[in-house]
Amino acid sequence: MTPTGIAVIGGGIAGATSCIALAKAGLRPCWIAPTPGDGPHLGETLSPAANTILENLGLSGLLTSDRHRHANTTFSAWGHDQLRERNSIIHLEGAGMVLNRAVFERDLCDAALKTRPELFQTTLRDAQSTPNGWQLVLGDGRSIQTRFVLDCTGRKAVIGQQNNQMHRADQLVTAWSCLCQDDTKPDVEPTPATLIEAVSNGWWYASLLPDKRLMVCYFSDPDLLPSGMSHDVAHWESLISQTNYIKQWIESAHFAVQSPPSLASAGTTWLSSAAGENWASVGDAAAAFDPLSSHGMTTALWMAAQASNAAKAYLENDLDPLEKYRAAVSKGVDDFLTQRRKIYGQEHRFRDSAFWRRRHQDVREKSPDQLGIPA
Ligand SMILES: Cc1cc2nc3c(=O)[nH]c(=O)nc-3n(C[C@H](O)[C@H](O)[C@H](O)COP(=O)(O)OP(=O)(O)OC[C@H]3O[C@@H](n4cnc5c(N)ncnc54)[C@H](O)[C@@H]3O)c2cc1C
Repeated sequence: MTPTGIAVIGGGIAGATSCIALAKAGLRPCWIAPTPGDGPHLGETLSPAANTILENLGLSGLLTSDRHRHANTTFSAWGHDQLRERNSIIHLEGAGMVLNRAVFERDLCDAALKTRPELFQTTLRDAQSTPNGWQLVLGDGRSIQTRFVLDCTGRKAVIGQQNNQMHRADQLVTAWSCLCQDDTKPDVEPTPATLIEAVSNGWWYASLLPDKRLMVCYFSDPDLLPSGMSHDVAHWESLISQTNYIKQWIESAHFAVQSPPSLASAGTTWLSSAAGENWASVGDAAAAFDPLSSHGMTTALWMAAQASNAAKAYLENDLDPLEKYRAAVSKGVDDFLTQRRKIYGQEHRFRDSAFWRRRHQDVREKSPDQLGIPA
């Protein structure tokens, strides 16, 4: 069997954008994606740095839908008790967009499908390195050979972890739910804003979605969450009632807390190397950042554009762009870890709490044990 050029694995933002970038470079990849654009859709703040990347890929139109809104106001109680309108602690470039994430991902995947990749709607089950590239075994039993692989499988990093060490700065998890307004109460127009509130065992994030539901996320460590959290709405209500501003927003705009939250991983992880001889990791598969940065989607877009160009160059026997990509991702991770420590370092009110203590350390100098990360 003749090996195909490039296989893209994963149907999220990184995978779809890689297919588009490869098509722009004149290549038709195999796209192994069980359900392109179909979730899990956590996180909706798109940093303004994404605009140029989308424009370069011919994708600016994706942001014009009235199903997204401009991110005009962010308030935070972080490092101080008062709620302050913000600024620069998290987004150095200013405001961005609040997306209807499901719509954005579906539109992005539709744009990718229009470039006519060879779609395999199944998972990757196994990948073996061969002298000519890779032998990929798919979930439906089929097998394909390819010269280069772009691993866009999110935090699973199926190819990257096979070739490399995955580092972890923390075990951050989120308990999250989407609240609707209580229609038995008088109408209140909810404020189109985002609110961040630090508390002793973590921090809260609430954002008014474009469809007027309120996304509420609590970020903490697994050992600091109340047990049974995801089964009992009373635990969730009790945690919310211990906040100052999140609670006030929910109550004043008549949002109803009706069901327990879902849980998801949100920790900072990165591979020791984002690329190797005939593969590159893209998006969360290469480096997944604490959502405090609100940069995960933008980073996935940027990496997809860069890694696709590097993959094309690889097929033309030019290995330099791949090395440059690896070095750029490594620098990005380093910069992020510095910024992460600085931002968490701004909060001193809870310095005795395990959550904040763990984040005031430089993760690059500590073992998981020293960071309080369970094995
Ligand atoms: C709570 C939370 C809030 C966040 N908030 C924001 C925010 O406000 N702004 C922001 O920019 N970012 C945010 N992020 C980060 C952002 O969501 C991610 O960075 C982004 O989704 C990464 O996209 P991806 O395509 O790399 O990975 P994913 O979206 O995880 O996609 C991975 C894809 O790979 C597929 N896959 C996995 N295994 C296989 C396999 N074996 N075979 C084939 N396919 C496979 C999956 O089905 C999926 O389609 C947040 C993250 C979390 C957890």
